Amino acid sequence: MRIRIGKKEEDAREKMVKVWVLRGVNKGILTTKYPKTAPTYAEIPDKSLPPNPTPSTNWLDGEKICPTGAIVAEKEKTNAGNVDLGKCIYCAKCEQAGFNFRSSQGSTKTNLSIDASAALQARFSARQRTADGEFLKNFENKWKAFAKSFHILLIDVGSCNACNLEVLNLSNPYYDLQRLGIFFTNSPKHADALVVVGALNKAMVEVLKRTYEMIPNPKLVISVGACPISGGVFQTTESFASPVGEAIPVDVEVPGCPPSPIQILQGLLVAMGKLKLHDSSLDEVKTHQGFG
Ligand code: SF4
Ligand code: SF4
Repeated sequence: MRIRIGKKEEDAREKMVKVWVLRGVNKGILTTKYPKTAPTYAEIPDKSLPPNPTPSTNWLDGEKICPTGAIVAEKEKTNAGNVDLGKCIYCAKCEQAGFNFRSSQGSTKTNLSIDASAALQARFSARQRTADGEFLKNFENKWKAFAKSFHILLIDVGSCNACNLEVLNLSNPYYDLQRLGIFFTNSPKHADALVVVGALNKAMVEVLKRTYEMIPNPKLVISVGACPISGGVFQTTESFASPVGEAIPVDVEVPGCPPSPIQILQGLLVAMGKLKLHDSSLDEVKTHQGFG
């Protein structure tokens, strides 16, 4: 059906288009510069910064406070331990035990010590990390196949919906995923990688396995958020089946609850082989004591 519009509406529409064009010209290009440059503080919300141990951190107290078992004190010592970010839901409860969540920029709080790059915590999965160096060889072969384009299929196996929204945000003009050769697809037959969000629900185990099997080789699996990595807040619920890595082989993990789009983008680029985990911004992250 065609809708006829009068001269007045036509003029108004033309004026509106001019306003948007002028606004675009005035503001310039809005797309993020990441990964060419490190993310800015504005791109990483405070809640995306990982817990950072300080000299006054009491690891034993942290272990007792943490609701997801992410903090493990070293053999009952109070001053050493490990934080598994794959289990962390970034609730900041461990601040009481002396962990620091503050950024070095943009915050009005005192005792600032972390910068935005500290939020980039993508990592190879335990399966890949324990593959005795073989994993890089496996990855390198896959990276050749994904050099020019990388099609991702998003699957939700029991999320609260926040991780889905953050993944889908990547297709907006600010993140402009396509500029990096990454595209969403709805078909497993066209996918190179499965991006999994949510805590694996018992009813979704078979669906997940079948979807994985339908993706042609070579393929990758990327777990996004604490839920698929460890179960996150849902790990003790009756319907929770297991971490996704126990159902299908996961390659890359992006901690967070939810991770911000830049953090997810980092995980995708690591999976594609466009970003190496020994990049300088990440070396800085890895030097933070106590992160597993
Ligand atoms: S922020 Fe993470 S490590 Fe700290 S208490 Fe919450 S879940 Fe545990
Ligand atoms: S990781 Fe957090 S934000 Fe993501 S689905 Fe689980 S509960 Fe929701």
